[in-house]
Amino acid sequence: MDLDPWSLLKASLEGDDSGTSILSIDKITKKFEFILKNQLFESLESGFDLDGFLTNKIDNTNFSRELIYKKDGIILESSFGKFNLPGQNENKEYTKFSIKDITTKQRQEEEIAWRLRFELGVASSIQILIQQPSIRDGLPHALYQLLYFTEMDSIFFLKYEPVENIDKFHVWVNERKTTKYPPLPKELHNADWYDLGLGRWVHKLKKEKSIYLARDKALTREKWFFDQTKAETLLLIPVRFEKRFLGVMGFLKYKQNSPIHPENLMIYQSVSRWMGLFVQRDMDITELNRYKSTLESLVLERTLDLTKTKEELERAYKVKTEFLAHMSHELRTPLNSIIGFSKLIDLPATDETGKEYLNYIYTGGTRLLNMINEILNLMKIESGQIKIQITTFKPEDICRQTLELIQPQANAKGMDIRFRPPIQSKPLTSDSGKIQQILLNLLSNAIKYANQPYIEVDCEWIHDLLTISVRDFGPGISEEDQNRIFHTFTRLNDDGKIEGTGLGLSISQGLAIRLGGSLELVSQVGQGSNFKLKLPEIIK
Ligand code: ADP
Repeated sequence: MDLDPWSLLKASLEGDDSGTSILSIDKITKKFEFILKNQLFESLESGFDLDGFLTNKIDNTNFSRELIYKKDGIILESSFGKFNLPGQNENKEYTKFSIKDITTKQRQEEEIAWRLRFELGVASSIQILIQQPSIRDGLPHALYQLLYFTEMDSIFFLKYEPVENIDKFHVWVNERKTTKYPPLPKELHNADWYDLGLGRWVHKLKKEKSIYLARDKALTREKWFFDQTKAETLLLIPVRFEKRFLGVMGFLKYKQNSPIHPENLMIYQSVSRWMGLFVQRDMDITELNRYKSTLESLVLERTLDLTKTKEELERAYKVKTEFLAHMSHELRTPLNSIIGFSKLIDLPATDETGKEYLNYIYTGGTRLLNMINEILNLMKIESGQIKIQITTFKPEDICRQTLELIQPQANAKGMDIRFRPPIQSKPLTSDSGKIQQILLNLLSNAIKYANQPYIEVDCEWIHDLLTISVRDFGPGISEEDQNRIFHTFTRLNDDGKIEGTGLGLSISQGLAIRLGGSLELVSQVGQGSNFKLKLPEIIK
């Protein structure tokens, strides 16, 4: 058997999964010639300048891997591998030269790289929009970013702004990869698209349909758009939020016969979906800001109104207080004379009618004087003019003195007053006169309104708080009336039988507060009433 090494080598090359050849290269002249080629090599070597490629490589002694892009779209990967032959000519060297069809692999890689790039574009433009407080500021930048990473040449966003049922769009953004191409036609701004011959597009977009149109498929009336933009392919996608039509995302391609890949269409659609989200967010924020500023000016207006009203009220109140104080004083002098003189008039014992009338004058006058005194009192409390005289005393002493004063009234109704002093006596620093005034009020009410055999008065210390409670076992006061009775001129069941002005409790409560304490009521209908005066040990 003939073991010629070249035949052996040739046989081994046929088993290769790439096109393989053996080159002999002249070290001095750099000339080369093929010694062997396998069949695969022969089928791949046409369609590109093989000689030129090899001359270049060998001249530059550059034996690195390189891709060869053939005219028919096939991509070859070339590689070299030097080797030595036993007894070879010193001026010659041998190298294995392989070419491998990697078109599919390469295309896949390119596709993946492209998709990654696209997704990167989408992500970075979303990021820009998220960071911007207003979409109007961020949108041009974001869309330019997106455009840069896509196959498209121009991108635009049209905000839907209908005016009185006319479909109009406002061009918010119009970015192009190069200024070589014209911007969107001016006619598109704020015009009725039906007048522009683009009614079909609006109609479709509003029905949530995208428009993907090549120049040669456009209707005659739509052609002007392609002429003016110089675009070959148009893609319009409706931008919505929930069911609301907010605008249109548009893309243009200027190259002829370069359709948009269906998979990419989906990405453009998802881009339009997040656009809807951002546009809606922007509209919400604008709306919110409008509300906010209206609210702010409204609040300001109201505050001014209120300040004015408050000032007016205060002025009116001051005038009223001064008037009442003045009037009360003016009234008291002649009233005192009326009361005094009615006592002095001495009518003959036989003049029964005269005596009766005189009595009317006396009691009526006294009642009026009481009322005037109470009003004056209230005015002083309300206007803060009331003077407090602070001394230190035993509260049980004040209670006893007050009970003595009220005793005649209680006796007149056959009522008993049961008093319980504190278990441990402790001095109180407060205004004893005011405390007495409050107690007199509470006690006279208990005598007036509770027709029961006795009243209980308890004076006790609970920690640093003095509580004097005046408790009767009369009709009691309903929960609803419990707050009301502390208001001025409030009288319950006022049938004119029991004398009163409806001022006693409001004066008493005002005084209690002025003394740093409170006046509270615990009562239930049918169970009697318990008025509790609570006072701090030392008035502040
Ligand atoms: P006046 O006694 O002058 O009417 P007050 O302010 O002292 O005014 O009392 C307001 C109203 O509260 C009274 O008219 C009365 O209806 C009710 N009231 C006060 N004290 C009692 C009480 N001890 N029992 C039942 N009702 C009372």
